[in-house]
Amino acid sequence: MPTGFERRYVVGVDIGGTKIEAVLLSDEGAVVSSGRLPARQGGDQVVSDVEALVRQVAGTLFSKLAMIGVGIPGQVNAQTGHVSNVVNLGIGEYDLGSVLQRRLGLPVRVENDVNVAALGAAGIAKAPKKGTTVFLNFGTGLAAGIIIDNRLQHGESGAVGEIGHLPVDPNRFDCPCGQKGCLETVCSGSAVSRLWPYDNPALPGLIAAAQRGERNALEILAKVTHAMGDAVQIVVQLTDPRRIIIGGGMAKTGRPLLDLISREIGTREKHCAFLRNLDIASRLELARLDEPLGAIGAALLCR
Ligand SMILES: [Zn+2]
Repeated sequence: MPTGFERRYVVGVDIGGTKIEAVLLSDEGAVVSSGRLPARQGGDQVVSDVEALVRQVAGTLFSKLAMIGVGIPGQVNAQTGHVSNVVNLGIGEYDLGSVLQRRLGLPVRVENDVNVAALGAAGIAKAPKKGTTVFLNFGTGLAAGIIIDNRLQHGESGAVGEIGHLPVDPNRFDCPCGQKGCLETVCSGSAVSRLWPYDNPALPGLIAAAQRGERNALEILAKVTHAMGDAVQIVVQLTDPRRIIIGGGMAKTGRPLLDLISREIGTREKHCAFLRNLDIASRLELARLDEPLGAIGAALLCR
């Protein structure tokens, strides 16, 4: 009998700018163990840390591992496992997939961090897996992961869902990408921290100040909310998803964030029967942030 029959565990690893998280998943999809390490700069350090973490969470089950799935920020070629421009980790170009594969002696799949979070968020929800799910990541940046009938969408160059750099307002802020008025310059975690530097985390503080009637806060919140409405409408009108899962660091704001987006969409619906018929608010939900979504999603890459 092939030994592959014995290999029924996978490890998912989520490499972030500040920490690396990993989970060991059984073939029933249960999280058997998990661990984390602080992230260090540079491709070789990242590989050493991922290897150590995989061995740690697998423990005595290492010989039963079938595969490793990895999520990492930056540009990822999911076919080859090559990563580019991982700015937060000081990585320019790196063959992450093949180097890890050699070090661990196991097949490795590599994906973009938003895509693995999307898989994780959709995977742990007890919802039908058919149809389209959009994971809208309001993190440091803004991007969407799009899953259709349980399959992540990549497109020709892996740029599917990169809506953060849509220049919606040519008169607004300069974006590091070289354009002006990108969505990400207004409705991402880094943008809100820049626009409202008085609280940390910025968005709950901004919402509270707006509720107190502070004019500056009301103006900034209106801008942020408008851009969030644009982001939601863009993904809805492109993919007409069954579910829109709001995730990323800003989702820690919780219910008030969902209420803001729903109110913005509601305002737009008042004058537009087409939008009213889409009933976008009923498709919105918050990601479960008490779970390591990225690491679980990375493990689900192996399915
Ligand atoms: Zn941009």
